[in-house]
Amino acid sequence: MTTQTAPPPPERKDLETTKKMRAVMGNYFMELENGPKQGKKTAWCTSVGPAELLRALGYNVYFPENHGAMLGATRMACDVIPLANARGYSPDICSYLTSDIGSYLKGETPLKKMGMSGHPKADVLVFNTNQCRDVKDWFQFYAREWNVPCIGIHTPRSLGDLDDSIIEDVARQTEALVPALEQVAGRKLDPSRLREITVLSKRCTELWKAVLETAANVPAPISFFDGTIQMGPAVVLRGEPSAVEYYEVLLAELKQRVADGIAAVPGERLRVYWEGMPIWGKLRDLSTQFASLKTCVVASTYCHSWIFDDLDPDDPFRGMARAYCRLFICRSEDAKERYIEEMAAKYKLDGIIYHDAKTCPNNSNNRYQMPQRLEAKLGIPHLVINGDLNDLRLYSEEQARTNIEAFVEQLAQ
Ligand code: SF4
Repeated sequence: MTTQTAPPPPERKDLETTKKMRAVMGNYFMELENGPKQGKKTAWCTSVGPAELLRALGYNVYFPENHGAMLGATRMACDVIPLANARGYSPDICSYLTSDIGSYLKGETPLKKMGMSGHPKADVLVFNTNQCRDVKDWFQFYAREWNVPCIGIHTPRSLGDLDDSIIEDVARQTEALVPALEQVAGRKLDPSRLREITVLSKRCTELWKAVLETAANVPAPISFFDGTIQMGPAVVLRGEPSAVEYYEVLLAELKQRVADGIAAVPGERLRVYWEGMPIWGKLRDLSTQFASLKTCVVASTYCHSWIFDDLDPDDPFRGMARAYCRLFICRSEDAKERYIEEMAAKYKLDGIIYHDAKTCPNNSNNRYQMPQRLEAKLGIPHLVINGDLNDLRLYSEEQARTNIEAFVEQLAQ
């Protein structure tokens, strides 16, 4: 008699497309570094600020939150945060802010590994408070430091339905930035250029969405941990052809993975959702732990936050307003719960993990009973992990490891 054993799951290989990432991101940083020598102006922009408008005016656009993530991922953050604390920025506020300002004060940054000499000096800083107030305070530090303008959009928070009056207000605020931006740029806004950039930005967003949605397949060909690496071009290069080219190649590779049954986590048996900020300095360890538990973190609010379905080349200001107000972080509890409910169905979730990031209350959604309400409604268990995006002194690795293990055991039962 012969016993039949199931064939082992196909071995997971790293995504081939990632090899192109270094060149794509490297070019981006080189352009930022060389911009001033070539007469190009630099605008700092919050992650969900009006990047399309800035690009249309010919600015090189720099996103300091990306630098914050680099400081977290390289674990440089903990060394530099105290410098910002000593200047009066509390250890309790956004650790992107404190690590970025600390890095500036210390003159140490992972940007140097990307060929840059340091923080690119801004000609103008442009914020959108759709995510938090911290971004404005963060930008105002540099505005004072360099004596340059800091302007922006004040988006209402906790939005339920996106009424026309709100969209109209945010669109008008965005348009009102144009004269000041034209003055710094030394050129007039060309509406046809804004249209072109918005077409590219929308295409980037559609591809990024398609990339993330391949994880709705079982097994998922890409995980949240891959997503935190792959999202680079969607964050810093939306509106540029290089981001579109990158995601076209990545999407093709992921479709092939789906066809071949290649999983991000070989032997995937459970699927969970990550709500909240990444713990940048511990992504590798967490990814390894989840893989060893044959559990794939298939989707996250964080990676999906760079999907902007509402961008509209034919009505760019209202399109930007709608896209940037629809952002999860500035929505009401009801709207957020509806969103996670849809994600649970689409990604066939077994569990939801909430990261309570101590220095980012704005992106920690476990504090007002949401996990309990959603668990009662969806019948999907949840776990809360206490930690932080960048400040690892606020994260207990031992406790998180034990809790994740117990949670996965609970899900498996
Ligand atoms: S949303 Fe959170 S992490 Fe992002 S800038 Fe604001 S406080 Fe910092």
